[in-house]
Amino acid sequence: MDTETLIRNRNDVLEAIAKAAEEAGRKASDVTLTAVSKTFPAETILPLLEAGHRVFGENRVQEAQAKWPKLRERFPDLELRLIGPLQSNKAKDAVALFDVIETVDRPKIVRVLAEEMERQGRKLPVFVQVNTGEEPQKAGVVPAEAQAFVTACREEHGLDVVGLMAIPPVGDVPAPHFALLKRLADRLGLPRLSMGMSSDYLDAVSLGATEVRVGSGIFGAREQRDG
Ligand SMILES: *Cc1c(COP(=O)(O)O)cnc(C)c1O
Repeated sequence: MDTETLIRNRNDVLEAIAKAAEEAGRKASDVTLTAVSKTFPAETILPLLEAGHRVFGENRVQEAQAKWPKLRERFPDLELRLIGPLQSNKAKDAVALFDVIETVDRPKIVRVLAEEMERQGRKLPVFVQVNTGEEPQKAGVVPAEAQAFVTACREEHGLDVVGLMAIPPVGDVPAPHFALLKRLADRLGLPRLSMGMSSDYLDAVSLGATEVRVGSGIFGAREQRDG
C-alpha cells in the first residue's frame, strides 16, 4: 500500500471514530486509536509515525522486539501496546519493550508481570482480558471471575489495572459482547475499555470503547498466519 493511502486510511478511521463518539454523546478525544501493525515491517509503519500517529499494537513479543526499538529511537513518545497472548518466559522482554499490556489473562502471568515490573522499575498500565464468549480456546478470564481476578491483580500483586479488553467470538454479532464488557467495567469501576477491530470498531465506540484496535482498516489485508 502506498503511503498516501495508508495515511488517508488512518485519518478516515479517526474521523469515523469522532463521528460515532459524538453520536453517542461522547467526545472524540475519549477514544484512542491503536494502529495494529503486526506482520507489517518498520518501513510501512514509519510514515504513520511521521504523520503524527503514536499509539501502536503488536501481538507478538519477538516480532515487536525486532521492529520497535529502532523506531522508538526516532520517536521516543510513541506508545506500544501488547494486544496478544503473553507467555511467562517472555514477560521480562514484554515489560522492557511495551508501554501498556492489554492481555493480562491468568494468575501465572499476573505474578510474573508484577515481579518483572518491580524488578525493572516499570509499572505499566494493564488491561484484563475477558473471554466474553467463554470460548474454551480463547484467552481471558470468564465474566463471572472478572471481579475476583481484577481484585487479586490490584491488591495481591499491585498491578495498575486501568480497564478491560475483549475479542468477541468470530461469527458472533459483536455488540452484545461489547455491552457485556461495558457493564463489567462499570461494575468494577474501571474507566477504560479496549474493544473493537476493523470490522466493528464503530459499534464498539457506540457502546463505550475508549480504545479501538484497528489493523487491516489502516494497513490493508495481512498475509495469513496463525494468530
Ligand atoms: C490483529 C488484531 C486486531 C486488529 O484486527 P483487524 O481486524 O485487522 O483490525 C485487533 N485486536 C487484536 C487482539 C488483534 O490480534
